[in-house]
Order: sequence, then C-alpha cells, then structure tokens
Amino acid sequence: MTERVGVVGGGIVGIALARLLTGRGDDVTIFEKESHLAQHQTGHNSGVVHAGLYYKPGSLKATLCASGRVKIREFCEEKRLPYREVGKLVVAVDASELAALAEIERRSIENRVPDLARIDDIVRLREIEPHTAGVAAVHSPRTAAVDYSTITEAMAQDVRAAGGRILLSHEVTGMAEENGRVRVTTPVFDDVFDRVIVCAGLHSDAVARFVGADPAPKILPFRGEYWEMTPESASLVRGMIYPVPDPRFPFLGVHFTRGVYDAVHVGPNAVPALSREGYRWLRISARDTWESLSWPGAWPLAKQHWRMGVDEISGSLIKPLYYRKARRFLPELKISDLSHRAAAGVRAQAWGRAGELIDDFAVDQVGAVTLLRNAPSPAATSSIAIAEYVAEHYLAPTPRSRLHRR
Ligand SMILES: Cc1cc2nc3c(=O)[nH]c(=O)nc-3n(C[C@H](O)[C@H](O)[C@H](O)COP(=O)(O)OP(=O)(O)OC[C@H]3O[C@@H](n4cnc5c(N)ncnc54)[C@H](O)[C@@H]3O)c2cc1C
Repeated sequence: MTERVGVVGGGIVGIALARLLTGRGDDVTIFEKESHLAQHQTGHNSGVVHAGLYYKPGSLKATLCASGRVKIREFCEEKRLPYREVGKLVVAVDASELAALAEIERRSIENRVPDLARIDDIVRLREIEPHTAGVAAVHSPRTAAVDYSTITEAMAQDVRAAGGRILLSHEVTGMAEENGRVRVTTPVFDDVFDRVIVCAGLHSDAVARFVGADPAPKILPFRGEYWEMTPESASLVRGMIYPVPDPRFPFLGVHFTRGVYDAVHVGPNAVPALSREGYRWLRISARDTWESLSWPGAWPLAKQHWRMGVDEISGSLIKPLYYRKARRFLPELKISDLSHRAAAGVRAQAWGRAGELIDDFAVDQVGAVTLLRNAPSPAATSSIAIAEYVAEHYLAPTPRSRLHRR
C-alpha cells in the first residue's frame, strides 16, 4: 500500500531517504525551511568521501561509512558527477603520536578500509606528499573528494522524477499525533501523513520536541572555519593531509584538503557557535546560546575541554595561531599562503545530559515519527547507506517503537 510520508530537512540525508522512499512507491513530501536544498551542513563541509579509518569497529559509523562510500561512488558514476580519489595521509609528526596512529591503523584494518598502507619510510611518505613532515603515516588512497551539494541536487531530481514533492521555504513549526498518523504544520501548509522522518541536522533536537521526544541528546553547534590556500602554494598538497586526531574529541583536527574543484582548504577547526547557524562570530542567537548554556551537559563538557576550547578560539581569532597548527606537518607553508577565509560550516554534534559525546549515528522513534538525532561526519559519505538502514529498521510497513543508540 502506498504510504504518505513527510520528510523534514532537505540536506543530503533527508533527500537520500526521500529518494529511496519514492523509489519504493511511497508518496513523499519534503519540507525544507531554506529556499534551496543543502544550505547547511551538506553545503558547508570538507567534501570528503571518508574511507572509514577512525570509527569504532562495529559501530553504525563504521559499517554505514564503508557501504556508503561505495554507494556514493556508484551514484556519482551513474550521474556523471565529479568523484576524485585524491587519497589521504594521516601523519604522525613525532614519536608521541605513534600510539594514536597505531590505533587508527588497527581500526582501519578492522573496518576493512580498502588499500590502506602503513608508511614508516620517509622516502615513501615524500613520494605520496612531497612537502609533508612526519615520522610515520597511514595512507588511504581510496579517500575521495566530491561536491555534496551537487550530489544532493542530483538525488532531488530523482525524487521529483518519481513524483516526490519538495516544498522549499517551508519551515515545519509543529507536528502532532492524529489517530496514529502525524499532522505536520508550516506557516503556509497543514496536512496529515502516515509517517514522518526528521533529518533536521542542527535543529534535530528542537524538531524532536514537537513530538515530545526525549530532549537528550542535545545539539551543541560547533563551527568549523577554513582558510583557502593561494593557487601558487596549493601545489604543496597533492591530496589530503590529516593530523593524528586527539581521541578525546569528535573532530579530526585542522587538515589540508584538495577539493573536487582543485582548491586546497586548510581546516576545519572547532569553535563553539553562538547560534545553531552561527557561521560567523557575530551571528548570535540569544535563544540558542541560552539553550546551550542551560543544558546540564554543557558545564561538565566545558570543565573537561576548556583548554582545547581556549586553544581553538584563539586560533579562530588570531591567524598566526591557526597557521602554526597547520605548519606542523607542512613546514614549507608560509602564513601568506593562507590567502583568505573560506565559507565556514557548523557541525550538529549531539551530547548527552552528563556532557558525554554521542559518537555514533542515533535514531529515535516516537509513534509514527522517526527522528535522526545524530548524523555528524561521516553522514554525508554514509547518506545513502543511512537511508537504507533507516528504511530497513524503522520504516517497515507497520511502525515499530524502537530506540537505537550506540
Ligand atoms: C565543517 C564540516 C565539515 C564536514 N566534513 C564532512 C566530510 O568531509 N565528509 C562527510 O561525510 N561529512 C562531513 N561533514 C558532516 C556532513 O556534512 C553532515 O553529517 C551531513 O551533511 C548531514 O546531513 P543532514 O541532511 O543530516 O543535515 P543538513 O545538511 O544540516 O540538513 C538539515 C536540513 O534540515 C533543514 N531544517 C532544519 N529544521 C527544519 C524545519 N523545522 N523545517 C524544515 N527544514 C528544516 C535545514 O534547513 C537543513 O537544510 C562535515 C560537517 C561540517 C559542518
């Protein structure tokens, strides 16, 4: 039987889900509050198709990133969209980083990252990235660069072609249960659906409140700022060069990324944003800031990570500090090589009540509403696989009540 399905959010995850559901014959309506698709995380990211190096083996991130990478590559091939396997090197700059590098290598092997190689030989390191400095590295040649906005638009074309409706400039302002179905309200629209799926990124906790879902996890927005390298200095970087990440944080550390259109970006850092859509320091929302500060988990989080916070904020405000971090593994880099700030992104990272990081993808079910509560990186890479996972586990013809978090 054809189901009437509402999807809240026109980022890559919402559109991938809508594409799958229209493909199986459902009657799908997408609500997106902006006037274009992919205006938030999907259109403001590093454009990396991750190969699955970092994620806890067995987690949703690990499994859906691995299958999602292949599906995104096939989708790009089918639609003739650019997909460049520029490869990625994770570099240990000194001996103190070797243990963390070994853990990444171990996870990568368990996650079956294709063609992964450990590099202990400086000559080999320099063959891959001639200008980098380090004592060891892991190399993932299958890590690729794409344009997630273009991919989302191509998926949306499939949705429209299959009869799906995409309602832009339609912010969902309310949802209510009605005889086992769901009434969705926007300022200009009101209708009832058999089921609704919420993929609202930075607003996923706020939209979850409409249906009385648990306020946890809470989204605390973290801005990631980039610098673009001058075209002359971009030749210092062939593919992607990453530091060994600090295992205590969910973010990967400032890295160099050669994008699908050849520009090289440095970043992103991770600074607390003062608004859910705080793309600049001066974009402040009193409401969002108050919500973040009054979240019980915010204080243990701040207490635990204040040093890192001060460091990231200083680097955001003072270019030489940002530059110093980047130069650690690219010693020839000059400060003038960082030509201008590129568009920043804001990450929707979910945290628990005690300030604990919700690391894995997380989904809640409330009646006929399925809520994606945590879809941070690598959710763009994993988007098609996330859609398949959600459809299989949560969108069976008879709604099941289920909560899945790892
Ligand atoms: C700086 C940065 C770098 C990243 N780098 C990578 C990377 O290299 N590779 C990777 O795989 N991932 C990366 N990510 C993560 C990736 O971008 C996200 O995981 C992914 O885009 C999430 O997609 P989404 O559709 O869930 O969210 P979004 O793209 O944020 O979409 C959510 C949509 O919901 C809409 N919405 C919200 N509330 C409402 C409402 N009430 N009514 C209607 N619409 C609403 C929003 O307007 C938005 O368009 C990065 C993220 C950031 C911020």
